[in-house]
Amino acid sequence: MRIRTKRDPQSYTFPGYGTEAFPSLLLRGAGDLDNWKIQAYEGRHEGYQALRKALASAPAEVTEEVKRSGLRGRGGAGFPTGLKWTFMPKDTEEKKVTRYVVCNADEGEPGTFKDRAILEYNPHQLIEGMIIAGWAMQCRMGFIYVRGEFKWLVDKLDAAIQEAREQGYLGKNILGSGWDFDLLTYRGAGAYICGEETALLNSLEGRRGEPRVKPPFPAQVGAYGQPTTVNNVETFACVPPILRMGGAAFAGIGSPNNSGTRIFGISGHVKRPGLYELPMGTPLRFLVEELAGGTSSGRPIKAICPGGSSAPFLTAEDLDTPMDFDAMKAKGTMAGSGGVVVMDDSVCMVQVALRLAHFYAHESCGQCTPCREGCNWMEMILHRIEHGQGRMEDLDLLASLTPRINLRTLCPLGDAAAGPIESILKKWRPEFEHHVKTGHCLAQESHLLVGAH
Ligand code: SF4
Repeated sequence: MRIRTKRDPQSYTFPGYGTEAFPSLLLRGAGDLDNWKIQAYEGRHEGYQALRKALASAPAEVTEEVKRSGLRGRGGAGFPTGLKWTFMPKDTEEKKVTRYVVCNADEGEPGTFKDRAILEYNPHQLIEGMIIAGWAMQCRMGFIYVRGEFKWLVDKLDAAIQEAREQGYLGKNILGSGWDFDLLTYRGAGAYICGEETALLNSLEGRRGEPRVKPPFPAQVGAYGQPTTVNNVETFACVPPILRMGGAAFAGIGSPNNSGTRIFGISGHVKRPGLYELPMGTPLRFLVEELAGGTSSGRPIKAICPGGSSAPFLTAEDLDTPMDFDAMKAKGTMAGSGGVVVMDDSVCMVQVALRLAHFYAHESCGQCTPCREGCNWMEMILHRIEHGQGRMEDLDLLASLTPRINLRTLCPLGDAAAGPIESILKKWRPEFEHHVKTGHCLAQESHLLVGAH
């Protein structure tokens, strides 16, 4: 995996978009082999200074600072982090409530590979962010729920947690504050749905990993029946820089209402796939053409998945869209998990839709009918179109199916499955028709024809 990050402070030029100077906040020193060790984090990156600052402030002040920063959750939904923290119940003199902070490190969205980079190259920033969150919400215990396949990362993370314990950042009476807090890692078993926060909590408790009915929300009834806040890896990793630089300074990076930097992962048909940390709101074109070098084949871009496989597709005409939550929403898609997948014009969009339908049908937990049945139906219809057995009425059947899944399910997996397929059918319908009429793929025929010249 290629990691592209900039050492701070460094100017970064946006050709055609002016010049911006910004620090790398999340992947600092990621190229250095020892970066994951506590000595490197403390020595080179002001490690655990933000925690000292937080412990010198009242918990509510820390939450206010995070609110001031405008930080929005980096897991996909973009919900304001500070606001989410305020949903936790307040302690009263008579009653102290046990509550938990949980990190969602179950990164399983196809096309997304940014959280693992933080876990591997900068785990102490995540740990520090979680301790600060624990202080702000007055938790005594935190869990890091890690995707089952990330075995090597859990070992590294456990070693980093132990280092933090030995330095007095975790355990009893942290830095003499009188406050106790500790962290445990927990490995999932590889189900995509456990990336949904309530399915994650079920799995953490040793139950079947399927979403819970909400309300009650985790801030009222979360892990082990106690108030719980779940945030993504990258979200927690943003917290130490916010405390160090101040919420207002963090809010000054990025675009309005979309503050800070974000790690974008780009893959597919590009010359330089990898991870790039950029301010929120950077135009998609800059990432795709300037940093990733455009298509590796030199052929035109056909489709772009802008935020993980759950995001409806964009085309080359949308390259000037800013990569932030609001601008992507205005384009009918979402910034999602920040995983950008680029496809050139040799790609068959019927195949892409079928691959997505297969994935979501496989990952549906089966609790609700529109998702369980709808995903299977989408897969069956697409399978026959792709294999030359489709009927023209299948296209209308497919088009009528997606709105019956969207917004009609218990958790967002239904929307995640229907949205991209709906967008592919709308934008590339002639390809579907060609498949039905001829039993062949229009994209691949034109690709071969162009290649023959
Ligand atoms: Fe399960 Fe799908 Fe319903 Fe989510 S939408 S609860 S994954 S059946």
